[in-house]
Amino acid sequence: MEPLQLHAAAVTDVGRVRSHNEDAFLSRDPWFLVADGMGGHEAGEVASAAVVAAFEAAPRERVTPAVVAQTLARAQASVLALATGRPRSAGTTVTGVVLLQTPDVPHWLIFNVGDSRVYRWLDGSLEQLTVDHSLVQELVDQGRMSRAEARHSSHRNVITRALGAGDHAPDYFVVPVITGERLVLCSDGLTTEVEDDEIARIAATEADAQGCADSLLTAALEGGGRDNVTVLVVDVVAGGSALEADEDTLESRPAPDAGPRVVDVVATDEIDEDTSQPVGIP
Ligand code: MN
Repeated sequence: MEPLQLHAAAVTDVGRVRSHNEDAFLSRDPWFLVADGMGGHEAGEVASAAVVAAFEAAPRERVTPAVVAQTLARAQASVLALATGRPRSAGTTVTGVVLLQTPDVPHWLIFNVGDSRVYRWLDGSLEQLTVDHSLVQELVDQGRMSRAEARHSSHRNVITRALGAGDHAPDYFVVPVITGERLVLCSDGLTTEVEDDEIARIAATEADAQGCADSLLTAALEGGGRDNVTVLVVDVVAGGSALEADEDTLESRPAPDAGPRVVDVVATDEIDEDTSQPVGIP
C-alpha cells in the first residue's frame, strides 16, 4: 500500500472584537487538534495551551484509543489544576483527529469535547463529523429548535461539556482515512460567522490546505470576526482508502439520545467576559 501522505495547515487569529486569542492548536503528525479556551482574564488562553501541551507530550507512534483517553484525562487534570488560586475557573473545548495504529487500512480517531468541530469535505460534500456539546445542539436534537434558529440563538455560545468542567466526557468516532478527503477542524469563531454552505464552497475551491485555511479565516473575519478564529486543514493526499470502499464510514457514530434529557450547562463562551453566567434552558 502507498505510504500515507498528509498536507496540513493551520491559522489562528484573535478576530476583530476580542483582546486576547484564547484558541490554540496542535498540528504535528499524527495529532491534529483545536482547543477554544474560556474563562476570561487570560484563564482561557492558559487552559487551551495546557491542553496542547498535554498532546505535545503524548506518544507519536503506536497511538491507540487508550492513549487518546489517557491524554485527554491528563489534559483535564491540567486544566483543573489551573483553577488553584484563581478567582475564575478555566475551561476549554478540544476537538481533534489522530491516526490510529491499525493493522489494516489507516483510520482516524476523532475526539470531541465542546463545540469546536471536525468537518470532512469529500467527493463534493461537506459533513460535520463531530456533534456539538452545546445547549442549542440539545434543543435541535429534541426537535425544539431548527439548525437555522440555533445559528442565531443568543444561547449559541453555551456549551454543555468542556475540559475543566464537571462534564468533560469525550465523544469518539473512528473512520477510515480516505485519499482525497479534506478535514477541517475549527473553533466556533469560524462556524458562528460562516455557514456550512460557504465552508463547503471554500473547501471545494481552494487547491491546497494553506489556501483553504487562509480563505476560511478571511471569511470569518469578513463575517464579523466576533470571536477568536482557528482553522486547521488536513488533506489526505495519498495512502488512504479508496472512496468507493467507504459508504458506511459513520457507522461508529454514537446513537443520538432517546428523548429529552436534563441539560447541564458547564461553561459559556461569551463575547463579554463579564456576562458569562450560565444560562438555563429557555
Ligand atoms: Mn470560541
